[in-house]
Amino acid sequence: MPKRVHAVVVDKNLCKGCHICISVCPHGVLEKSKEVDNRGFYLPEVVNLDACMACRLCEMHCPDFAIAVDAD
Ligand code: SF4
Ligand code: SF4
Repeated sequence: MPKRVHAVVVDKNLCKGCHICISVCPHGVLEKSKEVDNRGFYLPEVVNLDACMACRLCEMHCPDFAIAVDAD
């Protein structure tokens, strides 16, 4: 039974915009923001939540524990 994904949440305080999560996501769920934040970082954005398979690779590879997948 496929998992139901509710959200992929980036903690804007913890994330430093390294984009590892974007690189490891096999389903193109995340993209680099077009806007820079107030610290000078381009944070990842969820652009295709429907494609998320809740594999949690993004969570596992994030060095800063800054991304969380909310799924059943
Ligand atoms: S891997 Fe973590 S710190 Fe790097 S951009 Fe993604 S959420 Fe931010
Ligand atoms: S859980 Fe998997 S499919 Fe979903 S955003 Fe993270 S790496 Fe991509």
